[in-house]
Amino acid sequence: MAEAPERKGLELHWQILIGMAIGIIFGLIMNNFEFGAQFVKDWIAPWGTIFVKLLKLIAIPLIIASLIKGISDLNDIKKFSRIGGRTILIYLVSTVVAVTIGLILVNVVQPGEGVNTEFLSEIDTGAGVDKKLKGAAAQKSAGPLDFVVKMVPDNFISAAGSNGRMLEVIFFTLFFGISMLLVKQEKIQGVKAFFDGLNEIVLKMVDLIMLIAPIAVFALLANVIVTAADPNILMALIKYSLTVIAGLLIMIGVYLTVVKLYTGKSPQAFLKAISPAQLLAFSTSSSAATLPLTMERVEEHLGVEKEVASFVCPVGATVNMDGTSLYQAVAAVFIAQAMGFDLDLSDMLVIVMTATLASIGSAAVPGAGMVMLVIVLESIDFPADKLAFGLSLIFAVDRILDMCRTVVNVTGDATVAMLVAKSVGSLGEPKVKNWDDHLDQIGK
Ligand code: ASP
Repeated sequence: MAEAPERKGLELHWQILIGMAIGIIFGLIMNNFEFGAQFVKDWIAPWGTIFVKLLKLIAIPLIIASLIKGISDLNDIKKFSRIGGRTILIYLVSTVVAVTIGLILVNVVQPGEGVNTEFLSEIDTGAGVDKKLKGAAAQKSAGPLDFVVKMVPDNFISAAGSNGRMLEVIFFTLFFGISMLLVKQEKIQGVKAFFDGLNEIVLKMVDLIMLIAPIAVFALLANVIVTAADPNILMALIKYSLTVIAGLLIMIGVYLTVVKLYTGKSPQAFLKAISPAQLLAFSTSSSAATLPLTMERVEEHLGVEKEVASFVCPVGATVNMDGTSLYQAVAAVFIAQAMGFDLDLSDMLVIVMTATLASIGSAAVPGAGMVMLVIVLESIDFPADKLAFGLSLIFAVDRILDMCRTVVNVTGDATVAMLVAKSVGSLGEPKVKNWDDHLDQIGK
């Protein structure tokens, strides 16, 4: 039997937090030396990159193994459609709630009012903004049903060859798992046993990757600090950032309340269970990279059974982005306010719709939310020639807000997993209460 990796002492979220704090301090110190930024880029950042690559490496095998195991364990197609229907419904409702919170806040705080328009003409619409605009143009030329068409792969191998095509992989895997439920079980015992075994191995790989998480977040955060552009923060930008962050905090409060009311789980216990995934989301700005850890925490630490977690988490990582939709609503209205573009109630309703759809369409990678923001702005007829200015206005603080909104995206997925699990009777006791117990268990 394999030996458990050695890690006694501090729990994982503390280790990650300490790694983050040291990374920030190290980055700030390095910023004082001429060679500092280059040193971090050459010698520190690659360790973070390797960690994120490992997480992405494991994402597709994890989705395949755990989704097939999850569905084939259901033994009943009706249960699967109950889980699927509830998941999609709660995802939609939570996103609309997030956009609404964002819209209310941005209209009350009005962070874009009174922005010095002279300052706007000085903004350099740099290459970063151009790239986002190009990305949005490609998205926009798509037809209305294009996203459904895109979900269906024509070749499984090529779809599984790209992390950006996770929905296609999920489609194939669901199709495969459902078909497994529909054939005579005696005939597929070998296939089931194969996926059960594969699932165990992939989960062990996730555990092993997580052993380097504290060092990796140190590297990721040090690199964020030395590459952050000098933000030249104006009051408006600070107000805008605080509005987004306040909205995100309210959204976390909504999750905690709903979880407490519906499942009885205390906010402390919920946050403790999910915090390593939140910290990783903050460090990587990517729901997709965080997915392996989100799934592990949801199953092992929140007690959600695999049949629910294996479906809700991967689908959520790609389509449920409450943090992103809230940010898009605030950012769109902020830009409109700052550039003197009046919005009425019907514009607000259009924002609710498009920000919901745009967040579903945003990829689970750093910066994706800003690309889709262009589509939200265009839906309210924001003048095309001012788009680049508008985006440049918020570009300097986008990375930090991306880190924060990804935390909410991941927390939302975990919340919905708990709600769906409770509603179909698949919420049990957590298998492990802390990291040491977990290691004892995985070593057995
Ligand atoms: N970085 C976000 C995520 O991966 C998406 C975004 O809002 O840019 O969840």
